[in-house]
Amino acid sequence: MLFAGLLFFFLLPLLAFCAEDYYQLLGLDKSASDREIKKAYRTLSKKYHPDKNPNDEEAHHNFVAVAEAYDALIDPETRKIYDQYGHEGLSQHKQGGHRQHHDPFDLFSRFFGGSGHFGHGGERRGPNMEVRVAVPLRDFYTGRNMEFTVKKQAICSACEGSGSKDGVVDTCKTCGGRGMRIQKHQLAPGIFQQVQSLCDACGGKGKTVRHACPVCNGARVVREPETHELKIERGMPRGIRITYENEADESPDWVAGDLIVQLVEREPELGTEESARTDGTFFRRRGNDLFWREVLSLREAWMGDWSRNVTHLDGHVVRLGRKRGQVVQPNQVDVISGEGMPIWQQGHHDEPQLDFGALHVEYVVVLPDQMDKSMEKEFWGVWDKWRKKKGVNLLKDSGRPEGALKNPHDEL
Ligand SMILES: [Zn+2]
Ligand SMILES: [Zn+2]
Repeated sequence: MLFAGLLFFFLLPLLAFCAEDYYQLLGLDKSASDREIKKAYRTLSKKYHPDKNPNDEEAHHNFVAVAEAYDALIDPETRKIYDQYGHEGLSQHKQGGHRQHHDPFDLFSRFFGGSGHFGHGGERRGPNMEVRVAVPLRDFYTGRNMEFTVKKQAICSACEGSGSKDGVVDTCKTCGGRGMRIQKHQLAPGIFQQVQSLCDACGGKGKTVRHACPVCNGARVVREPETHELKIERGMPRGIRITYENEADESPDWVAGDLIVQLVEREPELGTEESARTDGTFFRRRGNDLFWREVLSLREAWMGDWSRNVTHLDGHVVRLGRKRGQVVQPNQVDVISGEGMPIWQQGHHDEPQLDFGALHVEYVVVLPDQMDKSMEKEFWGVWDKWRKKKGVNLLKDSGRPEGALKNPHDEL
């Protein structure tokens, strides 16, 4: 006994040195919830799966370690022991004959279906799932980390996909586990027809359970919401598809397919306050460029001396304006370089060197439809005076070729 105690004492620092901290391994802190632990396992076990990292010893080691960490932390009892006594405590607990832990591939299959492998031909794969996530133009401009939730078919965690309350699964007696039955019908004396049909005793599964799992009623799967993180990078193109590997519907019969998220631009929210509207109500996007329409009065368009502060999608201000005497023609477009969308480069996540497209500002000139009587009189007087003095010829100044005016009836 003393010897064992001594041995334990000497092994202590060794063990502590060898085994990685479970929380660190999963990238979590000590207060992590079950949900976070599951999430971390989902992400890391896919990353390190040996089928995805052939001949990579380190990945294989990590795959096993991640499963071990998950097993230890998801069970409240072992988690408590681990939190208090660390790895040593756990190994003592295990020696005490406690619960057998999952085989890492077995555990993997309880999360993603199938047999715990993929990429090896034969493995059946479930269908991919496509969803659309709509985000405002502002988020395409500024970038954003967000979450979205999808409802999907998941392997029942209460029975770990067996469908059985007590974990006991029997081979179906009716079909002998084949899931199919062959029945003979006599069509005429001596003439038989063989009909193959789905076994109705087991529903084609080949297996039966005596006590169905109360959570999934024996179906082995449940429908539940799952939340994913979504990183919208600055300038990502509209309609881009982002793949979440093996996150589609799960089933014990197949490896889950991929969840594909299509990022679309959300319709602007017209009801919101104007000051808060940086969602794209007034900006339109085409590729890397943005378009904006600015309204000018006749006086502004013609005489100049005006300015506007345009609030951009991230709140910074773009100043438009003309000095006195600078004319803006209706539908004239100012192209302001560097004020368009950030130019997205796939795989480049560091932002300081982002390039930007251009902002196209189109001017719309609105003429006054009413004028104060005396003002109208004064204007009229000014026009008349100038017309007589300068002899303005509207036809000539319109820029039309003069030749066409000499014989205006030629085409007839
Ligand atoms: Zn169940
Ligand atoms: Zn059957």
